[in-house]
This record gives sequence, structure tokens and C-alpha cells, in this order.
Amino acid sequence: MTASVYLSVVIPVYNEEDVLESLYKRLIKVCDDLGKSFEIIFTNDGSNDRSSEILKEFHLRRPHQIRVIEFSGNFGQHMAILAAFERVRGEVIINLDADLQNPPEEIPRLLEKYRQGHDYVGSIRDVRQDSFLFRSLPSKFMNWLRGVITGIRITDQGCMMRAYSRRIVDLVAKCHESSTFVTVLGYSFSINPTEIRIRHDARAEGQSKYGIYKLVRVTFDLFTGFSMAPLHVFTVFGFFVSSLSGLFVFYLLVRRLIIGPEAEGVFTLFAIAFFLISVAIAGIGIVGEYVGRIYQVVRYRPRYLIREIIEDLSEDDVSSTSSMKRRALI
Ligand code: UDP
Ligand code: MG
Repeated sequence: MTASVYLSVVIPVYNEEDVLESLYKRLIKVCDDLGKSFEIIFTNDGSNDRSSEILKEFHLRRPHQIRVIEFSGNFGQHMAILAAFERVRGEVIINLDADLQNPPEEIPRLLEKYRQGHDYVGSIRDVRQDSFLFRSLPSKFMNWLRGVITGIRITDQGCMMRAYSRRIVDLVAKCHESSTFVTVLGYSFSINPTEIRIRHDARAEGQSKYGIYKLVRVTFDLFTGFSMAPLHVFTVFGFFVSSLSGLFVFYLLVRRLIIGPEAEGVFTLFAIAFFLISVAIAGIGIVGEYVGRIYQVVRYRPRYLIREIIEDLSEDDVSSTSSMKRRALI
């Protein structure tokens, strides 16, 4: 596809009414100052607050630069990004969160790296402003585990603010997986990736949309989506444990023949049985994770549903000069 604007900024929005106005002001200022053509695509991921109205109003302020995709339900951050990826017009695409944890002021630095020839510019959060025990520590651990299991070495996977070349975004958009990790997928398609440190602020308003359960789900998606390792590990471990328990059964049999039946070791046996049962249950769970994904793909349902797209794609007005005229509106 050809790029008709220079920069596309992609932002997923889920119940962010409190931050949107300041996000808009800061982002528009940064984009105007670039002196290049740009568009901003907001995907409203089924918010049930006033986000939708606010975004529509943004579109009225800058009809040629602000596009809004309205989902008809909550399909998750990655789907929201993907829906925008399928529609971007830019040569370079930058993704950021709506909650202002990724400062829009860092955009020029990402673009600088892109101009130096990197088709993927990742980011590492400088100082994490999230709670250490519940967010930073688990996410450090997950990063490490992901590196080990999937072999994908992204220093800070949780930070969505990244720049991608259009080639990468088009490839990501073509992947018809049901749970797509935009950052990881983008990285796996890149030719000359790099990473920079960017500022990371505390959430401006509202609450994180990710509870512990959602984080665990996301991690499972990541592992099963990018690696067969859990299955392999499980199979190897299963073989190992069953050979050991085979030996153990053999030993008990011989012992019974020579010394006679024993009653004292009953609880040891219980313990071992429980252990083996739990291994089997975990194994079924892991297989189920993969089967579930196959099921989703086989069903071939749309990954997200769009209710409405609010945009004006006439090409005459995306240049920065015309945006200067509109500045008075913000
Ligand atoms: N988000 C979304 N759909 C969801 C959850 C979150 O579009 O189901 C958006 C949210 O509005 C924000 C970004 O994804 O722009 C990151 O969400 P959040 O800040 O809650 O995640 P955290 O920063 O805690 O990882
Ligand atoms: Mg956040």
C-alpha cells in the first residue's frame, strides 16, 4: 500500500474520558510541530463512559486528521490497535496508550530513529511509575520468561509506544490470528529493529484496565501465540515423571514380593499420586490453551466488530500547512 500521509498515530481507548482532552492537546501540538502530514486514529474499544462523544468531537475539530473507529463492544487493546493498523495511511506508524503514560512528546525521538533507517523502534520505560509489587515486578518476570520461552528479546514488552514502518504494519494486519500481539509480531517482522528509552509517567486519570486475571490471560496468549515451548516442556517433563514413577512402581512390586505389603508408605503414595494428577491437569490445561486457539481460528469469526467509522479521507487537507489553519480550533 502507498502512504498518503507521513505519520499515523494509533491509539486504543477504553473508558478514558478523563484524559482524552489533555491527550488531544499534547498530541496535536507535537504532531503540528513535526511539520509533516499526519493522522490520528482512535479506536474506541466499547467504552461505556463519554469517550465516544469526546472522540467524535475531536473529529469535528480536525476532520481530516482525526479518524475514529467505534467498536461495538470491548475486544481488547490489541484488537483496537489492529483495526487501526488495517486502515492506516501513514508511511510510519506510532502506537501509544491513551492514558498519557507514554508522553506524546517522545514521538519526535521515535521518528528520529525511524529516519536513521530502523523499521521498528521499540521503547523501554525509563522509570516505571506503576506500583512495584503488583505491576513492575510481575512484568519484569514475564519479560524474562517470555525471552526464555519465545526467544523474542524485547526489553520492555509492556510498553506499547513504538514506531513501525508501514511494511511491518501491513504484515501485522494480514495475520489472521485471534490473539495478536502487536509489539511482538511487529518485532518478528522487522529487519533492523532498535530500542530507545522513553519517559514513562503515572497514569494521568482513571485506573489501569488490566487486573491480574487479564494479565495472566495476556501472558498465556503470548506464550501460546509465539511458542510451542510449553507443550514441549510439558511432554519432556511428562516422560521424565512417568519413567520415574514407572521405576517407583517396579520397586514397590519387588519390595512387595520380597518383604510383603507395606502400609506405612501410604501417605507418600498419596503425595506422589496427587503430584502426578496435578501434572496431568496442568498438561490438559496447556493442551487446552492451544486447542482453544485452533478452535477460534477454525470458527473464523471476525476478531472484532466495528459499529461505525468516523473519518474524512479526502486527501486535500492532511498537510501540515492546512493543519496550521485549524490550530485556532484547539
Ligand atoms: N485499552 C483498550 N481496551 C481494553 C483495555 C485497555 O483499548 O480492553 C486501552 C486503554 O484505553 C489504554 C491502553 O489500552 O489506552 C492501555 O491500557 P491500560 O493503561 O489500562 O494498561 P496498562 O498501562 O495498565 O498496562
Ligand atoms: Mg496505562
